[in-house]
Amino acid sequence: MSDLATEISKRRTFAIISHPDAGKTTITEQMLLFGGVVREAGTVKGKKSGNFAKSDWMEIEQKRGISVTSSVLQFDFEGKRINILDTPGHEDFSEDTYRTLMAVDSAVMVVDSAKGIEPQTKKLFEIVKQRGIPVFTFFNKLDRDGRDPLELLAELEDTLGIDTYPMNWPIGSGQVLQGLYDMYNKEVLLYRPDVNGNNKLPLEADGNIADGNILKENQIWRDTLDEVDLVTSAGNEFNEEAILNGQLSPVFFGSALTNFGVETFLKTYLKYAPAPGPKKTVEGQPIAPLADQFSGFVFKIQANMNPQHRDRIAFVRIVSGEFTRGMDVTLGRDSKKLRLSNVTQFMADSRENVENAVPGDIIGVYDTGTFQIGDTIFSGKQKLEFEDLPTFTPEIFMRVTAKNVMKQKSFHKGIQQLVQEGTIQLYTAWSSGDYILGAVGALQFEVFKFRMENEYNSEIVLEPMGKKIARWINPDQLDEKMASSRNLLVKDRYEAPLFLFENQFAERWFKDKYPEVELEAKL
Ligand code: GDP
Repeated sequence: MSDLATEISKRRTFAIISHPDAGKTTITEQMLLFGGVVREAGTVKGKKSGNFAKSDWMEIEQKRGISVTSSVLQFDFEGKRINILDTPGHEDFSEDTYRTLMAVDSAVMVVDSAKGIEPQTKKLFEIVKQRGIPVFTFFNKLDRDGRDPLELLAELEDTLGIDTYPMNWPIGSGQVLQGLYDMYNKEVLLYRPDVNGNNKLPLEADGNIADGNILKENQIWRDTLDEVDLVTSAGNEFNEEAILNGQLSPVFFGSALTNFGVETFLKTYLKYAPAPGPKKTVEGQPIAPLADQFSGFVFKIQANMNPQHRDRIAFVRIVSGEFTRGMDVTLGRDSKKLRLSNVTQFMADSRENVENAVPGDIIGVYDTGTFQIGDTIFSGKQKLEFEDLPTFTPEIFMRVTAKNVMKQKSFHKGIQQLVQEGTIQLYTAWSSGDYILGAVGALQFEVFKFRMENEYNSEIVLEPMGKKIARWINPDQLDEKMASSRNLLVKDRYEAPLFLFENQFAERWFKDKYPEVELEAKL
């Protein structure tokens, strides 16, 4: 294998998706612990403060003095180089969160075992499913009384429409948690080590543990054996291909806070999660990681919120070839030539200037306004453009106007650039021509307002319109008379018409009235 092939085969690039408070930060920290990046685990959650909701990782950074603000964490574990991409679930939730899922090769879903599948998880999972990438589930907080594991599995399958395969099974939970029955590694992992200090007990061929173990005598153990018997005989077959296609999710149980079951999860995860794969161009041609040409795409642009430093970072996921610092590349969109000299990479313990990076890695390119979300960069002569990143249906809308009517020029310039960059979506009211902004998360408006003021010197007024259901309509079927106060007619920035429905009732009413009209949502 060439050096590049070896390096690529070591990469595991993934995101953790979860509902707020399910334990994403805690499990991330445990992983960093295994990677030797932090020395002790502890609760890193503080109260959120400041104008901008901070990413959980920023809190880790403050507590630990390590550099994670970057939204990408890189560390080494057991010969693998791991890149974890942040997908904030709370008030930080935005289109960025969705787009980040376009830059990973697999996803880890952390679920609170007392709560089951919650809305935010479901929303993020939709994207994972649509991409068909592998997803591994970790039912967390086993040290607390949780729901029946069989019920959790059923809910996962029903709510998300995915098959599951339990890799291990809890032996009790909460106060009576005794351990994990690890079907995959054929051992029992004890929550509290036995008198001899062992925490692993090998399973015999009959699936039982050797004589002399206290667990054998108790009811919880017998219940566990029954359940394991049930899920292994009546459940899905282990099928690596189905895992890789995202149709079968391997399921693990554990407790991130007490670091129970996290290591076995991480090891098994690394074994089955795929190394970086090919990505398709607009023409549908797959570009393999080992291709000669260096290529990558921009999935996120982060403006520095410090007004003294106007720079932004464009996050580029490398798709093929090798990145070396100072290399010349071309921007697919307008064939502009660029030199990549000011580039940063995200080792969890330092943010260093990167010399080399390979497919699967994320590099941060300092940008002064060149990049847009979805841009392709490539080296060499052959022009390359990757498929567009999908646009997402916004759910929250605000009317926007310039505070000072004399400053229309900077207002328009700011809006145009920030919309192009992918910060927020812009719509124009069909009849009045009013500007309406759409976002999937409230934080996008905050960021937009801040940047308009700081970068374009344009104070704006945002007038909330609340939640709306955006549905695109075939222009040939459009009649302006269809619009009403309950379904506002607007056009997107590509001039395509859509309705903003007040609520589901308004949408249903419309469908009843115009049954022949097709309404379409984006992702
Ligand atoms: P996030 O919002 O998904 O990042 O969740 P956090 O990792 O911040 O966890 C939310 C809360 O749940 C914190 O108070 C954690 O200490 C707690 N927590 C996380 N994992 C566990 C666990 O395994 N057991 C228990 N009992 N609490 C946990």
